[in-house]
Amino acid sequence: MISTPHNPQPADAAERRAVAPVICYETQKLPPIDLAAMQAQLPEAEVVSEVTIGARDAECFAVPAGHFFRIVNPNGHQVGDLNLWNLHNLNERFYSGKTRQLQASHVTVGDHLWSNMPHLSPLCTIVEDSLDWYGIDEYGGSVHDVIGTRCDPYTNYRLRGEHYDYCCHSNLTRALAKYTGKPTAEIEHLVHDVMNVFMCTGFTLDTHQYFMKATPARAGDSITFFAHRDLLGGLSACPGGNCGSTHSDDATACYPLVVEVLRPQTILQTLTDDRLNGAYHGRHGL
Ligand SMILES: [Zn+2]
Repeated sequence: MISTPHNPQPADAAERRAVAPVICYETQKLPPIDLAAMQAQLPEAEVVSEVTIGARDAECFAVPAGHFFRIVNPNGHQVGDLNLWNLHNLNERFYSGKTRQLQASHVTVGDHLWSNMPHLSPLCTIVEDSLDWYGIDEYGGSVHDVIGTRCDPYTNYRLRGEHYDYCCHSNLTRALAKYTGKPTAEIEHLVHDVMNVFMCTGFTLDTHQYFMKATPARAGDSITFFAHRDLLGGLSACPGGNCGSTHSDDATACYPLVVEVLRPQTILQTLTDDRLNGAYHGRHGL
């Protein structure tokens, strides 16, 4: 938040502000991943499993490497909070912060979702997005953000002094506990910052505060990912519904989401380059 300044502007303030920005990470130097080859498989891919996520609830789903998963919005007025783990190592999971820096604050076709350190590997690539037409609106808002964390009962308690059990954090915790058969206390720490699927968000232009607005998604909208590894996904149908008013309560209309897992005719190997498949040696100068 920008507060009232207590210090006078220096004489060269305008000059300092006029310095042109540079992009932090040169992703064009990444080894290429053949997006067209992945997309070419989609028309022939067949749905092999499907899970429906009830309103204000979450479910986990497994996606084999080389398969697709598609999140479908049957009603339209619903956003989802997505977690992703390496199916065989839940400590490797989606890293929203680095994805935001490497790709953008809002992701769409061609963007990879990266895992945490020490892996830092592409977990999946977005291959299809029915909302790719939206772009960036007049408020600076866009869809599918990797900015926000997930609505959670701890923040809600701090702000409202109320206990609410169906925030996305709790939904994802319940879903992961159910999938792993472990108590919530043992797995809650594995729930992580999300990709906000279908959510329309940004930072206000005057104060840079995080905002949300009703999703532009409508019935039938979807987003599809190609899995580079065997993945475990978790998806919560956010209690915020379309996220146009409140969240972390039962005040807003909420609807189910659907996840389809699709098997292509042939399984593509996409992470063939050592720089994508391997990892930093981990010595940190020692
Ligand atoms: Zn939520």
